[in-house]
Amino acid sequence: MRAEFPIFAAHPGLVYLDSAATSQKPQIVIDRMNRYYTEENANVHRGVYELSETATRVFEGSRAYIASALNATIEETIFTRGTTEAINLVAQSLGQLLLQPGDEILLTVAEHHSNIVPWQIVAERHGAKVRFIPLNKDRRLDMQEAARMVNSRTKIMAFAHISNVLGIEHPVHDLIALAKSVGAATLVDGAQGIAHLPVDVRVLDCDFYAFSGHKVFGPTGIGVLYGRKSLLDRMPPYQGGGDMIEKVTLNGSTWNSLPSKFEAGTPNIAGAVGLGAAFEFVKGLDLGKTLAHDRALGQMLVDEIKRSFPKMNLMIEPGPDWIGLVTMAHEFIHPHDLAAICDTDQVCIRAGHHCAQPLMEIFGVPATARVAPFLYNDENDIDRFVAALHKAEKLFA
Ligand code: PMP
Repeated sequence: MRAEFPIFAAHPGLVYLDSAATSQKPQIVIDRMNRYYTEENANVHRGVYELSETATRVFEGSRAYIASALNATIEETIFTRGTTEAINLVAQSLGQLLLQPGDEILLTVAEHHSNIVPWQIVAERHGAKVRFIPLNKDRRLDMQEAARMVNSRTKIMAFAHISNVLGIEHPVHDLIALAKSVGAATLVDGAQGIAHLPVDVRVLDCDFYAFSGHKVFGPTGIGVLYGRKSLLDRMPPYQGGGDMIEKVTLNGSTWNSLPSKFEAGTPNIAGAVGLGAAFEFVKGLDLGKTLAHDRALGQMLVDEIKRSFPKMNLMIEPGPDWIGLVTMAHEFIHPHDLAAICDTDQVCIRAGHHCAQPLMEIFGVPATARVAPFLYNDENDIDRFVAALHKAEKLFA
């Protein structure tokens, strides 16, 4: 698989273990975007000339391909800049549609800032309250407490498919069923889920599923919001501008049909086309096999840490819900120092709060180090990280 990703040829010896932050890009995605700019570039939905029709065809073709992969309709598949923009869109627009003073939005304590802050902003605007499902001792969601927390005031529930810090799949089916029991709308933050699990929005039966292209082999600056049509139809626009209108007069405007109603301005056409190619790449993978590979590499690291690094604390014990991501905090090496030492050996890992400061506070650490194996990693990459960790321990002892 590594041969499909040109970054590894450009940097011989590179060990890239930060795929939860962003994935590397296969050649077919890069080539597809090059072809778009070289042969097909024009603005979409506007021109009456052939080149613009070509650009529109490949842009909309990409949407259709992604929609079909998600088992969604074209109307329900909205291009955004990424997960963050998709969640802000839902928070602002659905918030305006649904929220009244005293209503509640239920999240989990294990959310990325992108799935906390937009809800805090909108809750303040509408006099609603944000509540958080806590974790059990084993750092899985406390579903009993979740069942106690939902009530007739709960209007929206939003949670990650896979936590970017814990590397585990949340019990999304149970969470969605819980939301339905009180008639609350559901948003799944699929930023991590989309790269590791097959996503069928009809099987999930969520109201919204948000993800970023760059985590799933696509380019940055493009993402997708799946939304249930019956809600999207009733929701007010998120941004105003070109393409999202039906008619504009000096006295007011009316809105275009879905999905254009939520896509103001010239879209990221090359990004959308590149994301379509990324989805074609994913279609050629066996996601079950890929996940087993990532878990095997993660387990190899977990075993080695338990055997040789008693001062390194793992943030979670792997279980069947785990995707192989290893988040850890050392007793005397700051994660930034560890990451810097890794970098001198061409090993890229993530260090910091991972945009999950509330979770760091619960763990009682300012930051952690994170190793995220993916399909282009192998055992040698884990060995190289372990060697760097030994080096760091000697240096800081
Ligand atoms: N949610 C989760 C779980 C994430 O891992 C990320 C990216 N780290 C985001 C949201 C935000 O994604 P983006 O920055 O691409 O919008």
